[in-house]
Amino acid sequence: MKILLASSEVHPYSKTGGLADMIGALGKAFAQAGHQVGIVTPLYRGIVERFPGIRRLNWRIDLPLATWREQAELWALEPARGLTIYFIHKPKYFDRGSLYHEHGKDYHDNSERFIFFSKCVAHLARYQPWRPELIHVNDWQTGLVPALILHQSRKEGWGNPPRTCLTIHNLAYQGIFPRSAYALLNLPGDYFHPEGAEYFGKLNCLKAGIVYADVLTTVSPRYAREITTEEFGCGLDGVLRKRKLPVQGILNGVDYDEWNTSENPHLKHMYSINDLAGKATNKLALQEELGLPAKPDVPLFGTITRLAEQKGMEIEMGALEEMLQTDMQFILLGSGDHGYERAFQKMAVRFPDKVAVRTGYDQGLSHRIEAGCDFYIMPSKFEPCGLNQMYSLRYGTIPIVRTTGGLDDTVVDATEDPLRATGIKFVEFTSTALAKAIRKAKVIYGNPHLLRHYQRNGMATDFSWDRTVTAYLKAYRQID
Ligand code: ADP
Repeated sequence: MKILLASSEVHPYSKTGGLADMIGALGKAFAQAGHQVGIVTPLYRGIVERFPGIRRLNWRIDLPLATWREQAELWALEPARGLTIYFIHKPKYFDRGSLYHEHGKDYHDNSERFIFFSKCVAHLARYQPWRPELIHVNDWQTGLVPALILHQSRKEGWGNPPRTCLTIHNLAYQGIFPRSAYALLNLPGDYFHPEGAEYFGKLNCLKAGIVYADVLTTVSPRYAREITTEEFGCGLDGVLRKRKLPVQGILNGVDYDEWNTSENPHLKHMYSINDLAGKATNKLALQEELGLPAKPDVPLFGTITRLAEQKGMEIEMGALEEMLQTDMQFILLGSGDHGYERAFQKMAVRFPDKVAVRTGYDQGLSHRIEAGCDFYIMPSKFEPCGLNQMYSLRYGTIPIVRTTGGLDDTVVDATEDPLRATGIKFVEFTSTALAKAIRKAKVIYGNPHLLRHYQRNGMATDFSWDRTVTAYLKAYRQID
């Protein structure tokens, strides 16, 4: 099949979260399975320096935006056979310090930046000589692409246009802008009404995708069910329930070429399911790296996250307050909300022998935390899929998760199946429930036989991309 993926972030070129991992890995997996794949993404600051193989194509983009026109260049890279990454080079929009916001504030022109980007995606979909059959867009940043394609096929002579698929990676981010932003689309009013892109008088980019995409997916089966309820629907549950083809939950896969413990440039010591000795040495190295006392017998807990309310930071801090009175260590790598950053840093000052906190974004350290910790804490309020719990499983680090979204779909608790148990789950979104789960972890830690049982089960789980690729192809082919 000929597939064009569109995303505002793609690993290894740009990343703020799981979306980037998913698109990078899905593109690679499609190409490996013999499909022809393109990925369109913005050329952010620093990418050209890190990937000198990128070249400028002889293709100039010149598109209308409200009452004026904007130009961009098209750059490309072919990291693998059958896979081309198309970069939209538009310094005015993308040569910035960050992807979406700076100093805690969204860029004021995000609607303009991503509507222009969406127009570039539709333009490439239409004029690429290899004529993609399917355009797969992701989240609000490319949510308007299906409407643009639909309009061009209805009114602007685009015969036999490609089908469209939208994946929702997080329903909480919808790209809502003042009504005036709709003019940037140069579409007639036909798409701006309560059954279309309008949301209480404003433009809602994600809603436009939900309404106009042929197929709709999200990143885990449980999240697919949750978002059609009022509790998790973020105001769009009604729109989701109305769709003819219901939203399908397809679990993200893990790129095990990158996330493994046997061949990994970020780790000092390699290990595997049959020989876990290297995990213990990674733990000591991690304690040293972060300035904690190097103690092999103290249970070490870790979290790597965006510091946002969604991730359950409040209840994590509450549970740690209680549990840090006991023998344990905790490491946090996170970036985001400054209030949380400061609160965790204060905790590290109060418990210098027990808590280490690193703020900022550090891919290498994230691998070392996954490898060196005994337990991984992920207490999200909601979690569309979640990747770190899956990485933890492969790294022999037992995940402690709340029963929501993809966390519930990927971890097995002993109460569900003691023989296949891979982690610890808790239900209530409270510090008390999480503290209880941490106490259970400490019991497991005190029983080496049980600890190995969990680690082996976890390391044997397989979330590789073959299954995900098959599920997406099936979803694409559902379109009549
Ligand atoms: P989300 O997309 O909601 O942030 P996911 O669990 O789906 O959550 O994906 C998060 C991804 O971002 C994981 O690969 C995780 O390791 C990575 N990540 C998050 N914060 C950091 C950080 N501060 N440093 C390095 N990697 C991070």
